[in-house]
Amino acid sequence: MGTPLESREEQATEVVDRLHEEYPDSTISLNYSSRLELLIAVVLSAQCTDERVNEVTADLFEKYQGAEDYAAASEEQLAEDIYGITFHNNKGGYLQGIGEILTEEHDGEVPDTMSALTDLPGVGRKTANVVLQHGHDIVEGIVVDTHVQRLSRRLELTEEERPEAIEQDLLDVVPESEWQQFTHLLIDHGRAVCGARSADCEACVLADICPSEKGDSEVDLASGEAW
Ligand code: SF4
Repeated sequence: MGTPLESREEQATEVVDRLHEEYPDSTISLNYSSRLELLIAVVLSAQCTDERVNEVTADLFEKYQGAEDYAAASEEQLAEDIYGITFHNNKGGYLQGIGEILTEEHDGEVPDTMSALTDLPGVGRKTANVVLQHGHDIVEGIVVDTHVQRLSRRLELTEEERPEAIEQDLLDVVPESEWQQFTHLLIDHGRAVCGARSADCEACVLADICPSEKGDSEVDLASGEAW
């Protein structure tokens, strides 16, 4: 069991500093070349791996280039075109709805406000934050995905469980200049070392400051249960 730094601010800053050293090129792993492609890719990535999304969007983005193309397609056709993505039937409907709203209300463009983005079908705060950060260079929140959720709890940066509440805690302790990178660093570390069922604490650069470290800790603070 490692010993976290005295305050959560210090703990967050130390985590960020060490992970920057570990993952100097950390960034979003979805492929896209426009704001619309970014939005579509992030919607498809909910509960699906980025790798699978990139495989499917390679063809999808050839076929559908503007919002009006998604608006004109049927939900069934879109579901077929994204076959292989988790919940492809629902997401086919989301893409059609997004195409329609962007065409009718936003001149085919991807809006740049949290409220307009979260009015789109299949777009919650997490998706909207990614689109604002990477599509519009607007950083007003921290994206909390499953890796950020798990690692933030393991590292005792929060005791909250819901993503929205975790985000509020993180906004208080992560330096604002790091709000965007924080997510990518934790995702990289979650994938490489601190997996949901496979935390490799012996190989972890955060072991000495992590209260969940397996050495002599019985508890995984992400779940609150024994390792
Ligand atoms: S791998 Fe272990 S020591 Fe490292 S952050 Fe995860 S739980 Fe903590």
